[in-house]
Amino acid sequence: MDHTRPRLRYAVIGAGMAGILAGVRLGQQGEDYTIFEKADQLGGTWRENRYPGLTCDVPAHAYTYSFAPYAEWHAYYATGGEIKSYFEQVAEKYGVLPHIRFGCEVVSTVWDEERSLWRLGLSTGETVEAEIVIAASGVLHHPRLPDIEGRESFAGKAFHSARWDDDAPLDGARVGVIGNGSTGVQIITALKDRAAHLVHFQRSPQWIMPVPYFEYSEEEREAFRNDPALIDAIRYDKEYWENIFRFTRAITDVNGPEIAIIEQLCLDNLENSVRDPELREKLRPDYRAACKRLIYSWSYYDAVQHLNVSVEREGIARIEPEGVRLKDGRLIELDTIVFATGFHADRFIRPTQVLGRGGVSLDDVWAQRPTAYYAIGIPDFPNFFMLNGPTGPVGNFSLIDIAERQWGYIEQLLEPLRTGEARTIEPSAQAHADYEERRIAAAKTTIFGSGCQSWYLDATGVPASWPWSYEAFADAMAKPVMADYRIARREALAE
Ligand code: NAP
Repeated sequence: MDHTRPRLRYAVIGAGMAGILAGVRLGQQGEDYTIFEKADQLGGTWRENRYPGLTCDVPAHAYTYSFAPYAEWHAYYATGGEIKSYFEQVAEKYGVLPHIRFGCEVVSTVWDEERSLWRLGLSTGETVEAEIVIAASGVLHHPRLPDIEGRESFAGKAFHSARWDDDAPLDGARVGVIGNGSTGVQIITALKDRAAHLVHFQRSPQWIMPVPYFEYSEEEREAFRNDPALIDAIRYDKEYWENIFRFTRAITDVNGPEIAIIEQLCLDNLENSVRDPELREKLRPDYRAACKRLIYSWSYYDAVQHLNVSVEREGIARIEPEGVRLKDGRLIELDTIVFATGFHADRFIRPTQVLGRGGVSLDDVWAQRPTAYYAIGIPDFPNFFMLNGPTGPVGNFSLIDIAERQWGYIEQLLEPLRTGEARTIEPSAQAHADYEERRIAAAKTTIFGSGCQSWYLDATGVPASWPWSYEAFADAMAKPVMADYRIARREALAE
């Protein structure tokens, strides 16, 4: 059929890792796009988080876009500041910056059925139109403060890890860190040489996977600059990928050999690293490894054995003006409290109001749990695509790799819109329902559902993360099943 190519406008929401990826790809195809960013800088999670010790525990050369290798990483694992700077450089090099509207939050996006486009309400008061919306608004960006009595009464500085207070006393001060996820562990590691007394309040101990850490020399960086094959050798390192495959097999086979290997590696790490038997028992997890996100650390066990560092497993009774009162009655006096207590992981694009066909609200569709067909799209929300949306993989992988695979999938969905063959595309209600049924059944049998509390669980206790192997994800993203999509052709609606 002969169609004239329509003019498509793309609204990308969020200038973090995924939004910049979308910008690069759309730019390369000469598409008309705007990235709306509520803050005044790009970088998403790497802009919001500035805590001491902020590191990405995915090897730096694997935490880069496949099309933009980076020779300058200072070490095997990069710091948050370096990663933010990398994204800034990519955005500049690929011409994305002029397309970003900073300080411009998308407050609402409403589908106009008659005109087959989205109308976006902005925080500036404007309304703009786009045929296609790419929601790249991130997963962990709404800080979750703990519900601890007296939290507001503390006389010193108290703040969430993603809202770092640069004026808070740290050097030579008494600092308490509440929370034992990847964030809390990294902060403790960084503050051990600075605080006079550093207390790690742990409600649950963690499985700590030992990982290598080393810095690259200037000679090595020079070699990376001259020979990108050296970077590829690290990025596509066989052992690293085997670990990823093993990890996902472990997730899906809770009684299998892979999880046993992971648990043994972590237990050996505990036995070999922590000398004091009492401390060792405090740090010993009492649930399955990888049930919560596995911690990769080369230095945490060393940090907690410093004389100025203590681990408190006694529960917190309340916070008082002087510090933290434990359930056994002891008062731990503090100058600074950091809440490394995680995020509301079920928000995604919200609080943006998203209204699809017939005014159906995303809030209503997601009343029980956030869902999306293969983590990408939602029935009745035409031409609306998510990167790192609900039910995608969120384990210990590079989310850049995940987003790139998702983008490859989205591009195939965009094709009929770009040729003019179709006006709209969205997953069919039946395909979405089937996906959810299979996903939920599988999720309940994964390691995430093996009996611990974590941000992987939705409000009903069902794990929200991708419940199959990495290979299954890569396969699913390689080619959409177009029969599962409802495509409105230009002339008529064809199911
Ligand atoms: P998190 O994994 O959700 O951990 C929150 C911690 O706070 C848990 O230890 C939790 O204890 C504790 N907690 C929550 N409420 C509490 C309360 N009322 N009293 C005492 N303790 C309380 O959060 P996160 O460490 O910020 O990490 C979130 C995610 O961000 C990670 O899983 C990861 O995906 C990502 N991240 C990645 C990196 C990286 O290097 N790639 C670094 C940092 C973060 P319980 O376990 O007992 O619930």
